[in-house]
Amino acid sequence: MSEAAMNKSAEAEALALLRRTKASYQSFIKLNYEHAAKDCRVCPTQGVCCTDAHFVNVHITRLEAVHLRETLERTTRLTYEDRRAVYVRARETIKRYNLTATGDTFAQTYACPLFEAGTGCLVHARAKPAPCIQHACYENWEDLPPLNLQTRTEHRIEQLNTQIYGAAWAWLPTPVWLCLVDSQADGGELEQLARGWSARRIEHGDSSAHREVRLRATAHTHRAQRSLPVINRV
Ligand code: SF4
Ligand code: SF4
Repeated sequence: MSEAAMNKSAEAEALALLRRTKASYQSFIKLNYEHAAKDCRVCPTQGVCCTDAHFVNVHITRLEAVHLRETLERTTRLTYEDRRAVYVRARETIKRYNLTATGDTFAQTYACPLFEAGTGCLVHARAKPAPCIQHACYENWEDLPPLNLQTRTEHRIEQLNTQIYGAAWAWLPTPVWLCLVDSQADGGELEQLARGWSARRIEHGDSSAHREVRLRATAHTHRAQRSLPVINRV
């Protein structure tokens, strides 16, 4: 088997594990916490949790981006044009909100291109990022799922990324990753970023840079994803 074929098959295995990890996390949240959350179907500001560009700063990893791409590909109710529209929205979002793959990406906020008016989250059932699975609107603080559930899932996601890509991945805003893994992109930007991440690994040793970033990501998405006022969380 060629190296490319081996990499593809290792990625497919990691994707299967990622799917399982997310599915069990999502079911656990649904069964144990969502009954206490507000009903999104009757929400007077439906979708604001995904489109409020002052708040949303959800970050994902490379493997999750591939998972998103494949989920969009496999969603049969989406036409080719619908799928391309997601990538067009992602590009526009990057431009409008000045999103970048470098610097303090967690300070960057945006309206999510995976939200479609009338449908909602296009990847709701299969590929939601961890903070989006964790999030719902609760009346009482004591009903919220504990943050360590999200942290644990993100840690597992990190392990899977490192297993497949070594240091060649990072936590980045969802629209940035969507464009990097777009099958119509030439891959040059991702290659260049991957070289930078690998160099950082050599400089700092193991994946400590990723770990530090994830902790910051968790803190930020925690703040961004709660609808109750969280003043002192970050
Ligand atoms: S999560 Fe909250 S803001 Fe978003 S649709 Fe549901 S109830 Fe509305
Ligand atoms: S991925 Fe889905 S749930 Fe998360 S912010 Fe985007 S549209 Fe909303």
